[in-house]
Parts: sequence; structure tokens; C-alpha cells
Amino acid sequence: MLNVVTKDEAVEIVKSNSLTDLKTEKVNIDNALFRILAEDIVSVEDIPSFDRSTVDGFAVKAADTFGAGNAIPAQLEIVGEILMGEKAGFTLENGQCAKISTGGMLPKGADAAVMVEHTDCDNSLCLVYKAVSPNENVTKKGDDISVGETALKKGTKITSAEIGVLSALGIYEVPVFKKPVIAVISTGDEITDGTPEDGQIRDVNTNLLSSAITEYGCEVYKYGAVRDNKDEIKNALVTCLEKADAVIVSGGSSAGARDMTVDIIDELGTAYFHGIAMKPGKPTIFGTVLNKPVFGLPGHPLAAYFVFRLVVAEYIRKMLSLPADKPISHGVLKENIPSNHGREEYICIKQTDNGETVPVHTKSGIISVLGEADGFIKITRNTEGLPKGTTVEIFEL
Ligand code: AMP
Ligand code: MG
Repeated sequence: MLNVVTKDEAVEIVKSNSLTDLKTEKVNIDNALFRILAEDIVSVEDIPSFDRSTVDGFAVKAADTFGAGNAIPAQLEIVGEILMGEKAGFTLENGQCAKISTGGMLPKGADAAVMVEHTDCDNSLCLVYKAVSPNENVTKKGDDISVGETALKKGTKITSAEIGVLSALGIYEVPVFKKPVIAVISTGDEITDGTPEDGQIRDVNTNLLSSAITEYGCEVYKYGAVRDNKDEIKNALVTCLEKADAVIVSGGSSAGARDMTVDIIDELGTAYFHGIAMKPGKPTIFGTVLNKPVFGLPGHPLAAYFVFRLVVAEYIRKMLSLPADKPISHGVLKENIPSNHGREEYICIKQTDNGETVPVHTKSGIISVLGEADGFIKITRNTEGLPKGTTVEIFEL
């Protein structure tokens, strides 16, 4: 392979070829799930918009309860009840209180709430057995989100949690990026999308990569499988370049006689690198054709997976302003893990019930490891294996 780069160099190159003028659109909140926010969401309202009680009990002036205890309760006059969803029609004066429920709006003059458990009342008199300080048991106006506060950041993937925040702010038309389209072509004479006959295997990568693309907030154009035939692959690539913003070609990325991806990219455009110092995933190509990025991924599904996860995903992150990849947890290695100097290596791991991290041993050419693993760890280029007992960062698969 010519022109082998480190994984970090590869990421820099693909990121510098990322689309920068991605279009945005507004979608109804009902259709916003898993879309990517195209703008910071800055609140124009205070949430809550009024002071609210966080307990069932009585709205009070805190000062009226000072010194109250089990032996000497404060005695307050009950002047009314605050109904949910309504504003009190009165103002609390000194020595007065009003019945309130969790979430009810504090009346004017009140600055705290006492829990019903700490009171003993009849219809007009309330004995308060526990003092409260100002603002106790109260959510103040703007406590949750205040005017001018950035409630959600551009590049956030909208999940049910973000849908909740948007609903609280009343943002029902949500600004999101238009989904970039990424095409997937699988190559290989042995690949079939039907029932495999002797010598054939099922196409794993079309679906694997398509779903990875979807997970990262993009749209897929699934071309399907083509044979190791230069014209067929070229035609597929040209069609995909018309339909998509970027293309992934799986298989045929090495330097053998049947590996044609790099020549095709070079004939139609420019290949920037051929080979990344990573394992799995070394035979990876990146280039542009008609100003659109083309990724040549190794056909081995595990390798294709890791190249997507570590390289293609970085391209998508840049394009959609997604946050940086971060470990999801840490673990302590239960055994030594050997690795070669000079390339970054990715090891699928499992977390045992007592918190130890063990590698999932891969039989080469096998996809099952992805189903078995809880995550993966990285061994950097300059490290020669990791000894048992090392604390490692665990990344999400
Ligand atoms: P290649 O990168 O084309 O040399 O393929 C490497 C290995 O991955 C070979 O064993 C292929 O049969 C296998 N392979 C290639 N493409 C796919 C695919 N789409 N699905 C499953 N296995 C594949
Ligand atoms: Mg092949």
C-alpha cells in the first residue's frame, strides 16, 4: 500500500474534506427525534415562569416560622387555598398562610412553603412545627432555565430528554440539519444479498454501515452489492455520487489484483491516502471524486466497523457539529493485552460482573465479537501492549 498515514492524520484529512455548508430545516417536534440540532437553543423565557411550591403544604412568609419547633409551633392564619393552574387572588400578610400543592403558584407575599407533614391544622389555624428559610421548598422563577440561557447546544442529537427540554420551552418547530446522504456500495464476487451458495457469503457490510450512518444522524443511499469488476464498481460509484454527499465502498481496498477501489478513485478523482496505521482497518482509502469524499473500507466486517467508528464517524461529527467521541466508562484489565508498536489498535472488551475488563478474543474473519462485546478500548501507536491491572477507557461500540 502506498501512502500509509496514522489514524490521527487520516482523521485530519477526512475532516478537512467535510461539507461545511450543510443546509438546515425546521421540523415539527413530532419528527425531531434523533435529528441533530442546527442551532443553540437559547431560552427567551424563564422556566418556570412563576415561583412554584415543591411540596404539598402551606405557602408562608419564612420569617413567620423562624424559631418554630416541636415544642413551640408557629401559629398562622389560613387565608385560602391556591388551586393548581391558577393564580392566588390574595396577598399573604404577616402571620398568614395558604394551602398549596406541589407545583402550585406561590401567592404574592409568600417566599417559602412548609410541608404538610410539619403542620397540624384545622380550617382556619395552622400550627407549623418546623421553621423554613426564604426560598425553601420553592422553585424560583427561572431556576430551571432562565432567559438568555443556552438550554441545548448545536450538534446535540435529539433524544427523548431533549424533546422534554424543547417542550418546556415551547419550541415545537425544531431547527435541525438536513440529513447529509451517504451512499454504501459493497464489492466482492463472493458477496450475495440472497441465500449464499457454496463459496458465497452474505453481505454484512451494506446493512452494518447503513445502520451506522443512520445512527450518526445521516441518510443512507444503499446501492447494494456489486462484483469485483472495474466497470461495475465505477458505474456504482458514479450513480452514488449523483445521489449522495459522500460514498463508502466496502471491500477491495487492499493492494491485490482484485482490489480496484484505489485505482478507480485515482482515475475519477484523487486518492489522498491508502492505508491507515490502525488494527483492524489498515487497508483503508480516502479520496475525493467530483469534490465529494469517497471512503474505501476493508471488506472484513469488523475492520469496516472500526474504520467507520474511528474515521468516517469523525467526518460526520465535523459535518454535523456533533460532540467529540468520549469514553463511556473506565475499567481495569484482568489480563495482559499484547499489541504491536506503530499502529493504533482497538480491542473489543466485556465487563465482568465484578467490574473487571476482559478482551473478547476474536477468531479472525468473525463478526460475532461485535455482538458479544460491551465496548472497546484503544491501544495507542506508541504503546506495546497493556499489562494486567491497567485502568483503561472504554468506548461505546
Ligand atoms: P476484501 O476487503 O474485499 O479483501 O475482503 C476482506 C474479507 O471480507 C473477505 O473475506 C471478504 O469475503 C469479506 N467481505 C468483503 N465484503 C464483505 C461484505 N460486504 N460482507 C461480509 N463480508 C465481506
Ligand atoms: Mg473483496
